[in-house]
Amino acid sequence: MDFKQIGAAAASESDHLNDGDCLKLYVVASADNITAASVFQCFQAELDKRGVKANVIATGSFGYYDLEPLVLVDKPGKSTILYHNVTPETAAELVNDYLINDNPRPDMALGSTGRDEIDDITSISALPLFNLQNRIALRNCGYIDPENINHYILCGKGYGGLSRAMLMGQSDVIEEINKSGLRGRGGAGYPVAEKWKLCRDAEGSPKWVICNAVDTDPQALTARLILEGDPHSVLEGMLIGAYAVGASRCVICVNADYIAAIKRLDKALEQMREYSLLGDNILGSNFSCEIEIKEVPSSLVAGEETALIRCLEGKQAMPYVRPPYPAVSGLYEEPTLINNLETMANVSAIFQNDAEWYAAFGTEQSRGAKIITLAGDVVHKYTVEVTFGTTLKSIIDAIGGGVSNGKKIKAVQFGGPTGAYFAADSLDIRLDYESVREAGSIIGSGTVEVFDSDSCAVEMTRDVISYLQTQSCGKCVFCREGSYQMSDILQDIADGKGEPKDLDMLTELGEAMKIGCICSLGRTLPNPVLSSMRLFDSDYAVHIKEKRCPSNGQLSPVD
Ligand code: SF4
Repeated sequence: MDFKQIGAAAASESDHLNDGDCLKLYVVASADNITAASVFQCFQAELDKRGVKANVIATGSFGYYDLEPLVLVDKPGKSTILYHNVTPETAAELVNDYLINDNPRPDMALGSTGRDEIDDITSISALPLFNLQNRIALRNCGYIDPENINHYILCGKGYGGLSRAMLMGQSDVIEEINKSGLRGRGGAGYPVAEKWKLCRDAEGSPKWVICNAVDTDPQALTARLILEGDPHSVLEGMLIGAYAVGASRCVICVNADYIAAIKRLDKALEQMREYSLLGDNILGSNFSCEIEIKEVPSSLVAGEETALIRCLEGKQAMPYVRPPYPAVSGLYEEPTLINNLETMANVSAIFQNDAEWYAAFGTEQSRGAKIITLAGDVVHKYTVEVTFGTTLKSIIDAIGGGVSNGKKIKAVQFGGPTGAYFAADSLDIRLDYESVREAGSIIGSGTVEVFDSDSCAVEMTRDVISYLQTQSCGKCVFCREGSYQMSDILQDIADGKGEPKDLDMLTELGEAMKIGCICSLGRTLPNPVLSSMRLFDSDYAVHIKEKRCPSNGQLSPVD
């Protein structure tokens, strides 16, 4: 089958998607939302009972977890209305009130989208949650049935990107990536085109593509959101990468406990095979490629590409010193292209549009957008995607709804567990690779963890270091012993057993780890310690000199 035939097959299978006269309801929720399945069934039963013809479609999540289940109602001739926190009871009311009696129930609506305004319902374009976002990797999440390849093909120009790439030829594909300015979303922001060139030019066969789709930061839910909501965007990106570097084998690594995501990936691969998008002679060409799913345990070190390779080889997940880079000698010592799933979802978007379209977003050196997960003491713990250059403050205030319980911000840790802290007066920082690096932190997993004014810097740093210590693979002394000692010292300070010289020791350990560790986990591990000592030295002083915690005034255990 060529791409035209696939498009025609998808249209004949799912013609209702582009039919403006067809009533459609989308039930939007994470796979673990237990109410969503009942809402879905209730809509179907109620519509049947009332004789209303409609298509009810279950989608993945938008990432707005506390508003789910959300329901998008696309009624012919009307603007689409988005309802939040729908229950089986309110689903039945919506069928009666809006679908039959044309009362749009503004009291249940979050917003509307479309040309016509609906009385008493705000347009979602006026809501910061929507207008501050630029959903590129998340473009289809919440809008398509992730278990139906036809939805991906019809609603998001799906696999049109692969078709376009294959018409361009290998070198032009890499040049297109280069022009787009895409940088790897795995954390370090390495230019994607450079990596692809290195792998294309490497000797060896077969070549591999590995997609790291593991959520290694326990607070970041990026992989789960994309794999549950739009697995094909990642798989298409992987095939484009494989075509560009001349690889014939691909592996997508997923958290072993992401049951729904794995099930949807399995189904996606099956459907791709039916449409000649996998296996021999993809789209009728001489390009052949296979993709397999590998379940891997979730650990921070699995985010390191060389550790992931070792894990896939059945060895202990321990990073190794580069060079040689995986692009030259990776899985089974063959050339291996590794990118994470957010990168791959951006790749498919670039080819479904073009490099100029993509390069128009973001800053001079950080093009496109970044997926961010809000966590900690913030009202809305959403996963969103914002253009590079958006400030940390606007994400927390406008999207996250500010600090919970109306308190003030004490600190924000950005980039995941090894990111640095920012004080409340420095949240105007723009999120792009350069600004964040200059401020001493990392883009990392994109997690924004907010700590309210009741937090103690010593305790929050102790907690994160005690977690990080468990994530060290133990290969290098600086990381293994350094994280252990840091954790011990911080616990002592928190318990009122600290001494002034402990601060010097923490600094010394941190500086040594930054240069002595072989992987970025160990090299960035001191970030929270060094930044919290710099920003909140008075918290450390109170614990050490006054033997009490500044946040609650309690005497520490030794007193
Ligand atoms: S820095 Fe830490 S996690 Fe990385 S290889 Fe060394 S011991 Fe392992």
